[in-house]
This record gives sequence, structure tokens and C-alpha cells, in this order.
Amino acid sequence: MDVPTNAPEHCPGTESEQAGKADACAGCDNQQVCASGQTKLPDPNLPFITQRMSTVKRKILVLSGKGGVGKSTFTAQLAWAFAADDQLQTGIMDVDICGPSIPTILGIASEQVHSSSSGWSPVYVQDNLGVMSVGFMLPSSHDAIMWRGPKKNGLISQFLKDVDWGDLDYLLVDTPPGTSDEHLSIVQYLKESGIDGAILITTPQEVALQDVRREIDFCRKVGIRIIGLVENMSGFVCPSCKTESQIFKPSTGGGKKLAQDTGIELLGSIPLDPRIGKSADYGVSFIDEYPDSPASIAYLDIIDRIKVILGDQ
Ligand code: SF4
Repeated sequence: MDVPTNAPEHCPGTESEQAGKADACAGCDNQQVCASGQTKLPDPNLPFITQRMSTVKRKILVLSGKGGVGKSTFTAQLAWAFAADDQLQTGIMDVDICGPSIPTILGIASEQVHSSSSGWSPVYVQDNLGVMSVGFMLPSSHDAIMWRGPKKNGLISQFLKDVDWGDLDYLLVDTPPGTSDEHLSIVQYLKESGIDGAILITTPQEVALQDVRREIDFCRKVGIRIIGLVENMSGFVCPSCKTESQIFKPSTGGGKKLAQDTGIELLGSIPLDPRIGKSADYGVSFIDEYPDSPASIAYLDIIDRIKVILGDQ
């Protein structure tokens, strides 16, 4: 029997004939959706997800073709950069089931998720930046997750359905590397609510670019708009002597050439800065700590481009 987290005690189940009509349904937040009959369709989660996501203005997927390109660090720093504007409410949903690192990067790994009558509450890094992560569900950050497809998909649908984000301007969804069942689930579950687009993260090396090409193909096949490409670890500027060197060589032209070849916008290039990793280790905002660094300026420029592309500025 499917019973949402925010259902009252005697919920008859959202797929039952009594859904939305039973005495227990009086006053339940889901009554309208349940009474509409949509919850008896093949996937009863969809109407709840659509209802929950209706308070989230922009839903952006962060994708990378392979691991190790700094996707989660990018997502965290981007969220911090969005949240630097206290007029904006920002959220991160970390569904990187293989390696949920967002709580550690944001310095909230020891926090626990609380559930209330309105669903699961995100963990707040600051007043306008909330986070929900698979990592909060693990007994310890050293625990491996060995879940099969249906369980992974069940967790993703539960995250989308049960997290009480409230009114959000931007929700960044940090996904696992590559294109897997989880990506297809997210796309299916958010189809009705609408995904505003995807940001693809790569490094300048050909090996990373090859995987991003697959990611581009995936987005095009499932009809997700690509907001743009971000080249991470793009050159290294020594914080002391300011000399720039190429650690990950763009032997085939890097993100710039890929963007030209595919007609996708290169939103920006973020230089490798050892202080980004250090900020992630200490769970602090790199942009707040080093606002004048080339990487911080790159993050803020990327946000400006995202807003322009989405028509928010
Ligand atoms: S309205 Fe839906 S979720 Fe609420 S109690 Fe009734 S069947 Fe359960």
C-alpha cells in the first residue's frame, strides 16, 4: 500500500478506491490529488511529485560524463554562489547514490534529516540554502551503497515526492556520473513538473570530453535542454606566483572546441585552485572565503549566464 510521508495515520492508501474520499482524507494535504484519480494511474508517484515540485521555480540537473571531474564540488559552490543573493532560495538534491559527497563538501555530514507532518525537511546550510542527500540516509560516510535499480529509483521518487522544499528559486540536482537508470528515473519523474535544463561538467582532457559527448546524446534523446557546458579544472593558477599551467591538457581543444562542435554554450571555465578542495574539506564557501579569486569570478559569471539563458535576468 502506498502511503506518502505526509499522510495522516489512517490513510487508506493512494491507490485505493477510497483515496481522497475516506474520513481520514479530510484535511490531508494530498486530498485533491488523491480524489482526482491520478494516483491510480500506472505510476502513482507522479501526481505527488508534480504537486511537490510546484513550489520549485527552476529545476536544474548537474551532469558529468565521468567521475572525478569535480561535479559535486561544482554543484556545492554554484549553490553557495546562488545563495549569496539573500533574495533567492536555493536547494541541492544530491541523488549521487554511488558517492553522495555533498553533505561533506557543505560541512553538514553529521546532520540528520527530520520528518514532520509536511514531509522530510532539508538540512539548512544557511537560511536560504537547503540540502537533501542520500548521504544523510547512511549510518556512516564510510558505508558503501549497494542497491539495485528498483531501490535506487524508489529513493529518488521518495526524495522528489516527500522533501518539503517550500518555495525555491533554484533546485540543483546533483546526479551520479554517466547515464544510468537513476538519470532516466529523474527525467521520467520530473517530466510533468518540467526540468529547466542540464549543466554538463567536464575537464579539458579528451577522456572526459568523450564521456560528455555521450551525456549530450542522452540529453538530446530524452529531450532535456542543455543550458551549457562548464570546463572544470581548466588550467592552474598558482595562488603565490600567479603563473598559469595546464594540469589537464586540452589536447583536442578542451571544452571550447566541444562547445563549438556541438553548438552548446560554454558557460565558463573554472581554474583549478587548491583552495577549492580545501574549502570543500572544511565545509566552507570558497566564494565567500576568496571572492576575488579567478574561480569565484568564474562561478558568478556562470550564474549570470544561467539566469540570462533561463530568462531570469
Ligand atoms: S488524501 Fe490521499 S494521502 Fe491523504 S489520507 Fe487520503 S488517500 Fe491518504
